[in-house]
Amino acid sequence: MNRLVAISLLIVAALAAALVASAPRSSDSWHLTLDSEALVPDTALRAQIFRALDAAGHAGTDPSISHYKVRAATVVTISGEDHIVLGGNTEYEVPEAIHGESSLLNHVTALYGAEATRHGVRFVAFFSQRCGLSGSCGDCRDFQHAVTDYDHLLIVCGQSSDHSVRVTRFADQLVDEDKFPAASRESLSISPGELAQLVQSATEARSGGVTLFTTTRHTGAAGLSFSGKIYRAAGGDDAAFHYRFPIGGLLQQAATERDYFLRAIVVVGEKGQWPAVNYRDRQYGFESSSFNHEAGKPPIALILTDGAGHYRATTFEAALPHAFSTANFLPQAVKDFLKTHAPPAAK
Ligand SMILES: [Zn+2]
Repeated sequence: MNRLVAISLLIVAALAAALVASAPRSSDSWHLTLDSEALVPDTALRAQIFRALDAAGHAGTDPSISHYKVRAATVVTISGEDHIVLGGNTEYEVPEAIHGESSLLNHVTALYGAEATRHGVRFVAFFSQRCGLSGSCGDCRDFQHAVTDYDHLLIVCGQSSDHSVRVTRFADQLVDEDKFPAASRESLSISPGELAQLVQSATEARSGGVTLFTTTRHTGAAGLSFSGKIYRAAGGDDAAFHYRFPIGGLLQQAATERDYFLRAIVVVGEKGQWPAVNYRDRQYGFESSSFNHEAGKPPIALILTDGAGHYRATTFEAALPHAFSTANFLPQAVKDFLKTHAPPAAK
């Protein structure tokens, strides 16, 4: 290399270095919305959030069905050193998916262990074109609830268009069963006779199902449709750990009969105890209740009983705050679907 070329290269290199130094790092342009500032008073945590958002923008995804990219990241501090971890969604075959936030948390566990996920993950940050109000799907709520310090977990959404950053508490997406309002037999939207039928049906359902791994959480559910039919199901586990949920099960039976509109669903657990209703199962109920909404019918009543004459009643809308359904993304498709899937005429 001759001297002139060498000097020219040096000048080019120096110019490039100066450009890099003067260009603002994109983390500098992220800014918390006013409401979010109070949730993140710690400046070091803010810096981690902005670094995570920069990284999340490059997270790989494969949403071959919805084409909706979920790009997530967090920062975990291990032995005093910060590590960025990414997650992204992948969709496959029938509409099934590995979701962005579950992918992220599993990635933290794979790299640094379950304790790091439980105590080291302070936030899940999403990089998004537009930040809406929807929270995680029910299944991701179950997962985050189970593996993180969920009471303190923050959910971050960084909007790529203006670099505004919205922070909320994950706990705002949760409603424990003991927060469902207590109800009397007379205050429910179904008659005491209908309630008795549903409780009996759900209790019988619970004597079945498959409980090779499920111990304390086994439940049965029964639902009453506007056409007057009762559908029921119990939870079923299997070796692949693809649990089949009772509410999802009965709704699938009703949908199979093109009986899409349910009035009420009763869930029972062990006698004397309140049943748990997983967020994934609430997601099935919410989706079904969005059909009611589309048809101008009241939401599905979700009724829990301890089997000893006590009741709690709510709706899937209240039990799954900040939820989303197909009705949000594809309202016309839901309208057209329901119009073309009327139940067979009664004989
Ligand atoms: Zn999800």
